Amino acid sequence: MDDIKKEIVEAIKQYSTIIIHRHLNPDPDALGSQIGLLHVIKHSYPSKVVHAVGEEVGRLQFIGRMDVIPDDVYRDALVVVCDTANLSRISDSRYKMGKRLIKIDHHPDQESFGDLSWVDPSFSSASEMLVDLCLGFPDDLKLNKEAARAFYTGIIGDTGNFQKGKISPGTLEIASILRSYNFQPERIHNFLNIKTKHSSHLQRDIMMSYKRTDKGVAYFVMTEEMLSKYDIDRTEASNLINTLSGLKGVRIWVFFIEYPEEIRVRIRSRNTPIDSVARMFNGGGHPFASGANIPTWEAVDQVIHALNQVCP
Ligand code: AMP
Repeated sequence: MDDIKKEIVEAIKQYSTIIIHRHLNPDPDALGSQIGLLHVIKHSYPSKVVHAVGEEVGRLQFIGRMDVIPDDVYRDALVVVCDTANLSRISDSRYKMGKRLIKIDHHPDQESFGDLSWVDPSFSSASEMLVDLCLGFPDDLKLNKEAARAFYTGIIGDTGNFQKGKISPGTLEIASILRSYNFQPERIHNFLNIKTKHSSHLQRDIMMSYKRTDKGVAYFVMTEEMLSKYDIDRTEASNLINTLSGLKGVRIWVFFIEYPEEIRVRIRSRNTPIDSVARMFNGGGHPFASGANIPTWEAVDQVIHALNQVCP
């Protein structure tokens, strides 16, 4: 494992242009790992050209903004993809135009890619992995306040404020090191947890009308029409997924969110592994937090049926 980390650091040192990607529909860890790495490289090597690319999500712009770059920047560039298990999920398909590709991820290794690949699902988040990398090579990759703030955001995102996911003693040690950088963690918590009036109305509706199977699979369908009724965007609506957590008798909770071309499925579970079901429907993720995509509403019943099957 240490060899691959060393090779990654050597590659970062070698290239003068580095472009950082992450997955589509970015969450705080996708953006936190991407923006955190950007700051680390800029701080450690001020003369390097470093870009972060991909679509933006308004609510998460506080983590950092994306760069809009022409194709020719890729010509001699090193491309690093953070927090992304498979190629089809990489935001901005130009990742393949670079000279060398590196994958850094904490999801189960669904599809290996890249000239160098460091995948370790024992970490809480890709952000934690990158801090671990910096701490292992302190002369080459230097943390600063901006990087620490982004990585901390990624860790609290993927651990739900240190309440779920893979939280090890190492995760908490890393969080404590990050906190020593003197950014304002309470502001991050505010950004991530703030709810608009629209979303609290939708949340009330979710609680009133979600469905539940005998096996304990709770689910809620969010149509385009519903999103316009509540005047809420998909990202904000999707983030209400944990409204259905913590309900007595509910083992698994699911959102189906209508997108123009497909239906996004967000699946969460208390302790029943659900990633195998996500993979059956063009998705993947972690044992207790996965996502998938289905083509039509008819497939909703198939997903629910498959989830009932994995319940004990
Ligand atoms: P989400 O519900 O989008 O937060 O996703 C939960 C986890 O599943 C994250 O780690 C995602 O990276 C992963 N995931 C979501 N959708 C997909 C997909 N279509 N394919 C592979 N992994 C996914």
